[in-house]
Amino acid sequence: MEKLIVASKNKAKIAEVAEILKGIYEVVPMSEIGIDADIEETGTTFEENALIKARYVFTRTGHAALSDDSGLAVDALGGAPGIYSARYCGDHGDDKANNALLLRNMENQENRSARFVSAVALVASEGEFTAEGRVEGRILYAEEGNGGFGYDPIFYSDELGKSFGVATPEEKNSVSHRSRALQALVRALKASGKF
Ligand code: IMP
Repeated sequence: MEKLIVASKNKAKIAEVAEILKGIYEVVPMSEIGIDADIEETGTTFEENALIKARYVFTRTGHAALSDDSGLAVDALGGAPGIYSARYCGDHGDDKANNALLLRNMENQENRSARFVSAVALVASEGEFTAEGRVEGRILYAEEGNGGFGYDPIFYSDELGKSFGVATPEEKNSVSHRSRALQALVRALKASGKF
């Protein structure tokens, strides 16, 4: 099975990617091959940032590198936090503080519609491939459940009829932005005939 190095330090995200690609590709976190860098995300779109991360790992290792850049886009906030989702509160990866700030900014908002977006990129000697996935939902008024990671406890999935914080990992993966993006990427890789 082809090995893909995942350009991320987010353990929860890496676990989801590994589970979604189980039986198709072997997913290896970049930490396992000695890469511990905080790769600077200087792009202006999810796709640009996904390509920046995958190119970094491919350039350093020569191995096929996979990345996901993702976030939550809230309509009433003009698409925020968007590509800044991981550092919305100012501190990178502080999920509790990010959720608290988002709930506060949504306090008097009736329009709760939002979506998770994931752009995934694969960079390898065969070329560069990208794909995107989305899942629609609404921002809750308080956290529900503590499953998943990031904004999962305050995101109500219309398709599941429950929050991602309450959903099992299997339920989340059955509709998630990340699994849709990765499925589309796998289709593109297979269609290229190179993987
Ligand atoms: P990235 O690692 O720079 O792509 O940042 C992704 C950030 O978006 C995470 O830190 C979360 O705040 C948010 N995010 C992305 N995907 C999810 C998800 O599946 N559930 C909850 N939050 C997510």
